[in-house]
Amino acid sequence: MCEMCRQESHHLPAPSRRRLFLLAASSIGLFLMGTADAKEKEKEKNPPKPQNVLSPDASLKRLLEGNERYVEGVSKRHDFRHEREALAGGQNPYAGILSCADSRIAPEYAFDSGRGDLFVCRVAGNFANEETIASLEYGVAVLGIPLILVLGHESCGAVDAAIKSVRDDKPLPGHMPSLVTAIAPAVKAVSQQTGDVLGNAIRQNVVDNVAKLKSATPILSAAVEQNKLKVIGGIYRLKNGRVDIVG
Ligand SMILES: [Zn+2]
Repeated sequence: MCEMCRQESHHLPAPSRRRLFLLAASSIGLFLMGTADAKEKEKEKNPPKPQNVLSPDASLKRLLEGNERYVEGVSKRHDFRHEREALAGGQNPYAGILSCADSRIAPEYAFDSGRGDLFVCRVAGNFANEETIASLEYGVAVLGIPLILVLGHESCGAVDAAIKSVRDDKPLPGHMPSLVTAIAPAVKAVSQQTGDVLGNAIRQNVVDNVAKLKSATPILSAAVEQNKLKVIGGIYRLKNGRVDIVG
């Protein structure tokens, strides 16, 4: 008997009420998803920076042209004033960069890019870990970036530290051994090579991480297979700022 209206069992039993709640919640969820989809589709139709909707090859061309301006000292003026408002509602960068954290690199400068142009992940030693792969997956799957550049650089302190730590079998302090663990495979792979040990390891580390990103299932590998995404490597030259593409 219902205490409220003195009638026998006209209220729904608890499990049914729960089912109704779940049904309502999932309907709201579907509605929100539908709204998000509609927003995404709207954004695809009207990207904040239409000039950033590029093929992988056009993206690379644009990066290298920007780098050429930077090398020659004729970078564009970026006061960002006119870009802020257009980007307040979204972003569609034209390339993703996995760069070392080294303060001398600064991808936005090196490729003479504005706000909303580059989706940059940075970690000392420019290696792909779970978090950087996840970030780049977001860049590719949600933001539609057509190109990822793994950007190593000359005289990389992280790679140099990894070489010394492996050679001397001496762990670094604090959390730094995690950098060594990530870079050590490249260091070991070139240990028998002649020539510049640091230069060889820097290059190998870039090559290894390009391969890792290309084969990262399920999102990046599928995008590469469908020719929606290219993953390439580059080495930044400290003295002149030039980025050489690594094959
Ligand atoms: Zn570095």
